[in-house]
Parts: sequence; structure tokens; C-alpha cells
Amino acid sequence: MITIALSKGRIFDDILPLLKSAGIDVLDDPDKSRKLILSTNQPDVRVLLVRATDVPTYVQYGGADMGVVGKDTLLESGTQGLYQPLDLQIAKCRISVAVRKSFDYAAAMKQGSRMTVATKYVAIARDFFASKGVHVDLIKLYGSMELAPLTGLADAIVDLVSTGNTLKANHLVEVERIMDISSHLVVNQTALKLKQAPIRKIMDAFALAVKQED
Ligand code: AMP
Repeated sequence: MITIALSKGRIFDDILPLLKSAGIDVLDDPDKSRKLILSTNQPDVRVLLVRATDVPTYVQYGGADMGVVGKDTLLESGTQGLYQPLDLQIAKCRISVAVRKSFDYAAAMKQGSRMTVATKYVAIARDFFASKGVHVDLIKLYGSMELAPLTGLADAIVDLVSTGNTLKANHLVEVERIMDISSHLVVNQTALKLKQAPIRKIMDAFALAVKQED
């Protein structure tokens, strides 16, 4: 049995064509069913639905043989014991700094004045501002980060941006792009040794499909 850990939403939607290229069709629709273990047309392949931040943990400890996870989550969670063979080029977005329109971010960065930054991505934000030599006070949030500058909780946020519509709707502006983000395949190293043939087959099909998309 090959177990693949996925999270609902963008990653699940974007991985379906890649799974199909490997001959795998997921038989249940996660939006209609409450099942957390989904069957596929391949009797020896199943899909686990887990939170995005739990995908590395499931794969690391062997609860799943492989998984798909955003680079943002990989950077935040640390990636010991995880083989990351492939950038799948799906669920693409960027991680950026955003502020209220009235906040002079360039001046704050230049003067090195201490900024308060709210984010779910504390490690990424800490590394980014440290690389710029700017001291920031980080506030960890778990969602709705756009509220932080609007309520005076923080001067800036670090968050994922795709179309930019969420920022615009909340009167925030993207002032700096920290990095581009896409989702990666992660594989449990022991599973790769013990179930090499079926895992390689899926990896090779994904790699070919990604190359063809280029
Ligand atoms: P947008 O309005 O298209 O810029 O999307 C921004 C919102 O969607 C933010 O709340 C992000 O946290 C979330 N988001 C954007 N892209 C992704 C992605 N690839 N994976 C997960 N969440 C995302």
C-alpha cells in the first residue's frame, strides 16, 4: 500500500492532474465527503487528508509514504528525515511583506526603526529581516493576518499572496516579495527503500508531467 498525504484546497485541486498522469484517480470528493482516507482507482494507493502543516509530520514518521506540501510549510516546520525530490510547480504563490498604505515601510527599513511584524511564518520572517539587518518584534498569528496592521497590532504582516485580492480588499499594500512559493513532493526515506518500485513510478510520472508543463 502507498499512502499519500495531501491537504484540502489548492494543493489537492492542483495535484489531481499530476496523480492522473501517474494513473491514479481519487474516487472520493473531499468537498462532499467527510472521509479522511480516500480511495483511488488503484487498490494499493490511498490518500490521507491532513492539515497542510501536518503533512511533513505524517511523512517524516511514516504515517504516510509521501506527501505534497508548500515550501512555506517546509521552511517553517524544518525538514529532518524528509526526502524532497521534486518541486511540483503547483499552488504557486509568493510570501511577501504587506503594510497599511499610510505606513512608510522603506523609511522604517532604512532607519532600522523597530517594527512589529505579525505572521504565521515566524521562521521565514525572522530570517528575512535578519538578512536585512533590521530588528523586528514578531507576533505569531494563526490566520486573518490582514487584521493586524488594521487594528494597530502590528506595523506589517508576512503572508502568502497569490492574486493580491485579499490584501487589496483590506487596504494593504505588498511592499516586498520575500520568496516565490510552490508545492513540493516529500517522501519518507525508509518507505523509499522498502517500496522503491511503486514510489519511483509515481515520482517519475510526476517529474514527467511537471517537465511537460514547463
Ligand atoms: P490572494 O487574495 O489570491 O492574494 O490570496 C491570499 C490568501 O490566500 C491569503 O490569505 C493566503 O494565506 C492564501 N493563499 C494564497 N496562495 C496560497 C497557497 N498557494 N497556499 C495556501 N494559501 C494560499
